[in-house]
Parts: sequence; C-alpha cells; structure tokens
Amino acid sequence: MAMSVLLENILNRLDKVKRQGRGYVACCPVHGDKNPSMRIKEVDGKILMHCHACHADIQEIAQAIGIEMSDLFEDSLSEHSRYRAQLNRLQREVDTLDNTILFYQIGLENGDLTAKDKIQYVNHIESRRQMLLEIKQTKQRLIEI
Ligand SMILES: [Zn+2]
Repeated sequence: MAMSVLLENILNRLDKVKRQGRGYVACCPVHGDKNPSMRIKEVDGKILMHCHACHADIQEIAQAIGIEMSDLFEDSLSEHSRYRAQLNRLQREVDTLDNTILFYQIGLENGDLTAKDKIQYVNHIESRRQMLLEIKQTKQRLIEI
C-alpha cells in the first residue's frame, strides 16, 4: 500500500527511520532516543505511534514533532461521523416504516374497510415490509464494515 502524505510528513520529521514489519521504527522525539525505540504504523489510514522506551503516546509524540492531533485524526473522525449519520438515518427510516405498517395493520383489524381498501392496505404493508428488509440489509452491511 502506498504511503500517505501524512505518514511521509511524519517520517520526515523523525531520525533514523527504518522499515520494520508492516510499519517503521524511528528515534523517539520525546525522550532523546539514540536507538530507534518508537514504532510508527499506518492502519486503515490511521497513524499509530508509540515509544517502547519511554511509553510516550501519540499525543506527546505529535507535539514533539509539531504535528497537530487534528491532522492525525480529522479524516478518520469525519469518516466515523458520516457512518454514524448514515446509520441514524437508516434507523429513522426503519422506525417510520414500522409505524406505517402498524397503522395499516390496525386499519385492517379495526376498520370497516371496503374490499378494495383492504387489498390496498395489504399491498401497502407488503411493499413497506420489502423496503424494511432492504434497509435492514443495508444496515447490516454497514455494521460489518
Ligand atoms: Zn520515547
């Protein structure tokens, strides 16, 4: 996988950068490291950094090399909120459809409907059940990502 601009930017600010496994090692900018004891990794567009000598976390490391925390997380945060918004919207559609189906079911049970109306009500219920099923499948796919 290609290195992101952000990762490249971070590695440029560190000393003795070397590839190791799926990530990199470098000298930790927090504790005056002589031998690389910090690990840097990019997973799903998210940067992970940790020093195994002084246990500096990503916040301390970012500060030491002059990278804003928002630069590190903005993308994944906005992606996360888009995903949440999509899930919430689907849930609202499910609620609305549940209510509509209930409305027609009550109508069928209580109302003195004409035969023609009854057929229409049943058709309404069927089409909404189908929509409900599709939305639930979409939700399931979103959750599995
Ligand atoms: Zn350190």
